[in-house]
Amino acid sequence: MDGCIFCKIVSNEITAKKIFEDENSIAFLDLYPAAKGHTLVIPKNHYATLLDIPEMELKEVSQAIQKVAAAVVKATNAEGFNLVQNNREAAGQVVHHIHFHIVPRHKDDGLKLAFGSKEAEPSELAHWETQIKKHI
Ligand code: AMP
Ligand code: ZN
Repeated sequence: MDGCIFCKIVSNEITAKKIFEDENSIAFLDLYPAAKGHTLVIPKNHYATLLDIPEMELKEVSQAIQKVAAAVVKATNAEGFNLVQNNREAAGQVVHHIHFHIVPRHKDDGLKLAFGSKEAEPSELAHWETQIKKHI
């Protein structure tokens, strides 16, 4: 897609530290890493978000994610890793070509990726259980 920085990495118009490539996916180092070895995995075809990519291509990129994550963990001696995927600006997506962040983690590395710490009310859980199921 014209003007997409990740499409330009796929087509080698701009350089990146590519660490993996197969028929459908590539992986390269994040230029502004959250941790040493922070890697991005993307499909070669341009789709904006998780809601746009066809199921088969998602399956293929998932296989690449698993392979690359194992290599990143080994190379960085990580004790864990986060798989992060932002969809749309409200969720922090800056590059609008779907991508998966693999962020190696070590105990006490100080990185904050926080979820809620307050238990939900039962009525609230019941409400969202009903509402979301309606759209499945
Ligand atoms: P997101 O906020 O989920 O859209 O993440 C986009 C990521 O792409 C950020 O972590 C950036 O550091 C990274 N990024 C942007 N431009 C490049 C580039 N040219 N090469 C590698 N990573 C990039
Ligand atoms: Zn693109």
